[in-house]
Amino acid sequence: MDYKSEMKTLRETLSEAGYRYYVLDDPTMEDYEYDRMLRRLEELEAQHPEEITPDSPTQRVGGMALESFTQVRHPVPLESLQDVFSPDEVEEFAQRMEEALEEVAYSVEPKVDGLSVALEYRDGVFVQGATRGDGQVGEDVTENIRTIKSIPMTLPDKLPRLIVRGEVFMPKNVFHKLNRQREENGESLFANPRNAAAGSLRQLDPKVCAKRLLDIRVFNLQLAEGRTFATHSETLEYIASQGFRTIPHKVLDRAEDVNAEIVRLGESREELPFDMDGAVVKVNSLSERAAVGSTAKCPRWAIAYKYPPEQKPSRVLEIVVQVGRTGVLTPKVVVEPVRLAGTTVTNATLHNQDFIEEKDIRVGDTVVLQKAGEIIPEVVGVLKDLRPEGTEPYRFPAVCPVCGAPVIRDEDGAAIRCTGAECPAQLHRNLTHFASRDAMDIDGVGPAVIKQLIEKGLVRTPADLYFLTVDQLADLERMGKKSAQNAVEAIAASKDRGLERLLYALGIRQVGQKAGKILAARFGSFDALAQATEEELTAIDDVGGITAAYIREWLESPQSKHLIGRLKEAGVSMEAAQQSAGEQFKGMTFVLTGALEKFTREEAAALIEARGGKASGSVSKKTTYVVAGENAGSKLRKATELGIPVLTEEEFAAMLAE
Ligand code: AMP
Repeated sequence: MDYKSEMKTLRETLSEAGYRYYVLDDPTMEDYEYDRMLRRLEELEAQHPEEITPDSPTQRVGGMALESFTQVRHPVPLESLQDVFSPDEVEEFAQRMEEALEEVAYSVEPKVDGLSVALEYRDGVFVQGATRGDGQVGEDVTENIRTIKSIPMTLPDKLPRLIVRGEVFMPKNVFHKLNRQREENGESLFANPRNAAAGSLRQLDPKVCAKRLLDIRVFNLQLAEGRTFATHSETLEYIASQGFRTIPHKVLDRAEDVNAEIVRLGESREELPFDMDGAVVKVNSLSERAAVGSTAKCPRWAIAYKYPPEQKPSRVLEIVVQVGRTGVLTPKVVVEPVRLAGTTVTNATLHNQDFIEEKDIRVGDTVVLQKAGEIIPEVVGVLKDLRPEGTEPYRFPAVCPVCGAPVIRDEDGAAIRCTGAECPAQLHRNLTHFASRDAMDIDGVGPAVIKQLIEKGLVRTPADLYFLTVDQLADLERMGKKSAQNAVEAIAASKDRGLERLLYALGIRQVGQKAGKILAARFGSFDALAQATEEELTAIDDVGGITAAYIREWLESPQSKHLIGRLKEAGVSMEAAQQSAGEQFKGMTFVLTGALEKFTREEAAALIEARGGKASGSVSKKTTYVVAGENAGSKLRKATELGIPVLTEEEFAAMLAE
């Protein structure tokens, strides 16, 4: 490939990956891979500066502010760091510094894998917390920051203005607990603590963020009016004296000691409460920092050393195939337990049949495992030299390992699917999904109860749940009369969740929460939806041709018809219910002010009330949000005085659409 096409490919791949990572919090590329590609692009751009485009990922720090939070301009930019990947490069950095400066001491610190925030205090009082965004402009997440217990709201010193910068993260133990809960509730899992922290800090409702138990390590003093310091370590001491949790750091003056400290930090990562994605080396003297200055986006006086993802070999004991809720067969390897990046690994994903064939992974093989930021380890490759005699290529099962029905390969991809209509594997997942919080929200009917119900033959479809009696449930292990009674009540209560949730709960392929809402809003009732042609479905914004085909296919299957019949018989609501948005604003009070464009005041108030909230005419401490339209006056002023969050009309509309 010539350099021009290589640069273009790199730019495109990195932009897409950066968007998924920074904006959607849903990364598709390993961080290490991303950093390496970025470095390659930087190299090429250095050789061919005439080819640098303004939209190149090297030209920005990454991440744009989302529209749903107010934007904040950082008085002191939140810079990025230059990455290096080897001890030699650390030495080179030290050489550069030593050539430019007299005597250099370095601070070596763990690089916390979280989200960078700036915290501002006026006269010793916390006034604003903002995310990094693109480094110049971030998002105002003040209310969420307030929920982080380790961040002081008042400081002993009352400097007119103080800004510190730190990394917000979700402690590893909190992350594991959260994911376990999400799994039990049938909700999607966070890929890693960084995503969980990002997702939490960007919650529009601070109460959700509060439950996530985020923490912080402050690593820089951005601005301190009325104080001067000579070194970075002095600033960290000062920050710590003001009640912040600061980054652990060591000051060293020889490059080889710096490298040794980097190794030591890497080995201690298991003991740290946060994920670490590197080590940061910084010049300690603040006047020396000023002397070398910064490039357009990174300081010259610091580097981030990126550890290669840890890899370990282990032997394949077994290849097993699991069947998911939608019937997809996913293979994984069971390996001899091995300690990898802080956890004991006993299995790793194999993605699909093609992956196994391409790598020729066999039972008995020694495979190299890797875990880089993600919780699920993967197989990097097979050490063919270590292959024992007599192994055979793995053959993917032709029938479902759970129900024995034939499997088929999807026309549009690598996925292999079970065709068994009543496959118990699918039934368990289907029912768990059906009862999960975001679907029919049936409290007390979790995976363990569902497992027993299936084993006892009490349920074969979600509709059977509605015909269970207290006695049947009380018979289950660890149930008891009282919880059986509660479960029956919870099942009955779920009948009124409305069409939007029902459609999601049914587990129709490609129909998630959003599509459920869109379809319910468009058709109003199940019967109207059942009449819709594929063309009508495709014509709806956000419903693509493939989804439309899946919906039609689902509607036409005899089992679905039977299921819907039984659900109707049980009295499950088939109508789009306004109340079904019911609880979204429970306990919240809104005040509307100024002229709204999309709604009249009355409409907006009705929408708030339909979601369980209150619309009030005057701003007080009890107000949760003020929605401010054009020319908002005194109410907006009052809200600002009281520190009540203010939403624009767009933000309000986005909340309604959630
Ligand atoms: P990058 O995003 O790869 O450019 O790396 C820079 C980011 O590392 C900064 O935005 C900080 O959020 C983060 N970071 C984590 N720990 C530290 C630390 N000890 N010193 C400086 N930056 C840190």
